[in-house]
Parts: sequence; structure tokens; C-alpha cells
Amino acid sequence: MIRFDDVVKRFGDHVVLRELNFNVAPGEFVTLIGPSGSGKTTILRLLMTLEHVNGGRIYVGDECLTHMPRGDKLVPANEKYLRRMRKRIGMVFQQFNLFPNMTVLQNITEAPVRSLGLSKGEAEARAVDLLDMVGLSDKSGARPSQLSGGQQQRVAIARALAMRPEVLLLDEVTSALDPELVAGVLAVLKDIASTTDITFLCVTHEMQFARDVSDRVMMFDHGQVIEDGPPDKLFTDPDHDRTREFLHAVL
Ligand code: ATP
Repeated sequence: MIRFDDVVKRFGDHVVLRELNFNVAPGEFVTLIGPSGSGKTTILRLLMTLEHVNGGRIYVGDECLTHMPRGDKLVPANEKYLRRMRKRIGMVFQQFNLFPNMTVLQNITEAPVRSLGLSKGEAEARAVDLLDMVGLSDKSGARPSQLSGGQQQRVAIARALAMRPEVLLLDEVTSALDPELVAGVLAVLKDIASTTDITFLCVTHEMQFARDVSDRVMMFDHGQVIEDGPPDKLFTDPDHDRTREFLHAVL
């Protein structure tokens, strides 16, 4: 579902990703772990097309994200092509980024109406189902400022799901939350992961969550996957010293 093919990303002279290769299968939940600066967020930003590759290609499903077909060649994607591809990918950020002047319901219905062309009624019916899924049916008329951080993040998750993404990217979605609100958000994500066929790529420092929910964990260091495997193996009996050191420092 997601394929990185020899992806290179540089910021000036600083090479962050050096011919990076990995695959995520449809419906898989893959978590990226690794030290600060190892390139995890850059991978999510490339998938959101907030950054552009300096080399290699990224594929989503059977289509290339970074390049588009022209004749029998692939050329760098233009804005129109990227707009279409972006609809396939949702993202939930550390900061919830809700629209403060809109109600919860309006936050969730705005993008499906504007960018998928749903009628207001269709978008609202979808939003009501999603609010139920994230346990906030009673908050549809509230403003974000009237909600706790955990509730705001659950609205942000519902808003991302309202676009029916094939891929959902999660970037440190609990880092800005008070500790007692973390479990509720993670339980909602676990439920969504087990009841939908969405493909997840997740960056988190919540190692217990990574262990509970992931099908596969990839350990990054210096922009390379140094270890990749099922969470039970990687967290209890890693093959690499670097993984062991990292886990020792964070657990
Ligand atoms: P963390 O766990 O701290 O979020 P990370 O693994 O997500 O780290 P990235 O945020 O992907 O790491 O950053 C990888 C490297 O790229 C870092 O050295 C960072 O300083 C650099 N970097 C990221 N974005 C930019 C940018 N816009 N301009 C210059 N350097 C950048």
C-alpha cells in the first residue's frame, strides 16, 4: 500500500534519508520508532507531500505519489495530480489543528463537502457515525475550546476518517496530551485499526501502544531501517544493539 523506493531526502547538505526502501501492506499497522532526528517525521511529511523527494519514488497503492505518468514516462508530479493523491491519505498531528470558530460537527463535515463534493446531509450523517465511533456523540455542537485535549484529538481523528482515507498517518498523536487523556485516544485508534481496512503508518513514543497495536515495528537510525519485525520480537529480543540501546533508554 505504501512503498518507498530508494528515497533520498536532503535539507541543504544534510542527507536525512539515504536511498530508503520499505513497504507497508494494505491494512497493515506499522509503527516507526527511533531516536530524535532519525527521519521519522520526514517520512510522514513526504507522504503528505509537505516535502518533496530529492531522489527515488514513493508509491501509494499502485500509483506513484511523487511522479505522474506522461506518455510512457514518469515525470515529477504537478499540483493537480498531488491534489488527487492527497485525498487518499489522512494525517493526525500532535497539535489537533481544529478550526476554533467551528463546531465539532462543522470541523468534521467541512472537508468532505468542500473537497469530496458530499452534500451537507451526507457529510453530517457520516460525521454522526464517526463521532459515535470516537465516543463523542454528545459533543457535536461544542466548540473545540470547550473540549479537553483528548476529546479534541478524537475529533481530529474523526475529521481525518471523514475523508475515507486509504492510509492514515499518525504523528505523535498523544504527545501534547495530559497523561490521563492518552489512554482514551489510543483506545479509539486501536478500535479503528481493528475494525477498518485502513493502512496505518504511525510515529510514536508510546512504546506500549506500539507493541499493542502494530503488526510491524520499524526501528530507524540515521534515515535507515535498521530493524523491522513483529513488535513482540523487536521489543523483547531485538537483533541489533542499536535497537536494544534505544529501547533501554526509552522504556
Ligand atoms: P523526532 O523524534 O525528534 O521528531 P524524527 O525522527 O521525526 O525526530 P525528523 O523530524 O524527520 O526526525 O528530522 C530528521 C532530520 O531532518 C533532523 O536532523 C532535522 O533537523 C532535519 N530536518 C527536518 N526538517 C527540516 C527542515 N525543514 N529544514 C532543515 N532540516 C530539517
